[in-house]
Amino acid sequence: MKRMEQLYEGKAKIIYATEDPDQVIQYFKDDASAFNGIKKGTIVDKGVINNHISTTIFKFLEGQGVPTHFVEHLNDREMLVKNLDIILVEVVLRNVVAGSLAKRMGLPEGQKLKKPILEFYYKSDELGDPMINEYHIIEFDLATAEEIQCLRNYGFKVNTLMMEFFKERKIRLVDFKLEFGRHKGEILLGDEISPDGCRLWHWDTNEKMDKDRFRFNLGKVEEKYEEVYHLICGKS
Ligand code: UDP
Repeated sequence: MKRMEQLYEGKAKIIYATEDPDQVIQYFKDDASAFNGIKKGTIVDKGVINNHISTTIFKFLEGQGVPTHFVEHLNDREMLVKNLDIILVEVVLRNVVAGSLAKRMGLPEGQKLKKPILEFYYKSDELGDPMINEYHIIEFDLATAEEIQCLRNYGFKVNTLMMEFFKERKIRLVDFKLEFGRHKGEILLGDEISPDGCRLWHWDTNEKMDKDRFRFNLGKVEEKYEEVYHLICGKS
C-alpha cells in the first residue's frame, strides 16, 4: 500500500493517506513526550519497537475477538490500519495503583486493586486530558450511551486478555490507555498498544519497563523498551 499525503501529525505518530480512503498508514516516530507535552525527547528506535509490539498485541486481541483497526504490518515503522473516526474519550484500565491514581487518592504506587478500575478522560491536548464520566460523555456528544457500554465492555475484556498475555511474558500490567474509533458502523480499538501507553513492571522485580523511565529520568529507557520487545515478540 503506497503512502500518500500526510493527514495528521501527533506526538508519537504521523498518519498518512493511502489510495484507499478506508485505510491509512500509522508511522511510528521516536519522539517522546510527557506531562502533556512539557517534557520532550527522543527514545532511539522507539518507533520500530512500538510498531512491532502493537502489531503483536493487535493480532493477539483480534484472535480473541476484539475488533481493532490493525490491517497489516508494512515495515519497521509503518502499520496499515482502518481509517477511524476517533472517539475523543481515552479509556484507562488499572490493576495496580500508580501515576495519577496514586496522586488523586494519596496512595503509594504498587498497591494491588481488588478489582480493575476503568476511567474515562477527555482526549484534548489543550485541556490536558481531564478526567470525565458517562454524564460528560453524553452531555457533550462525545459518544452515545450504547458506545459507552461498548468502550466499557471492550476495556475490561482487553484488560483481562492483556493481563494474562503479559503475565505469561513475565510482565505485570499495572495500567494502560486505550483509544477507540468508529469505522463503517463498528467500534474498533485504535491507536497503539506499547510501553508508551501502558505501565509495565517486571513480574519478579517490579522494575519499570515503560515510559515512566523517560517521564522521571530513570535511565535505561531504550534498554527497557527493548526488553519488553524481546519478552513480547520473542526475538533477540
Ligand atoms: N496514558 C497515556 N496517555 C495519556 C494519559 C495516560 O498513554 O494521555 C497512560 C499512561 O501511560 C498510563 C495510564 O494511561 O499507563 C494511566 O495514566 P495516568 O492516569 O496515571 O496518568 P499519568 O500520571 O501517566 O499522566
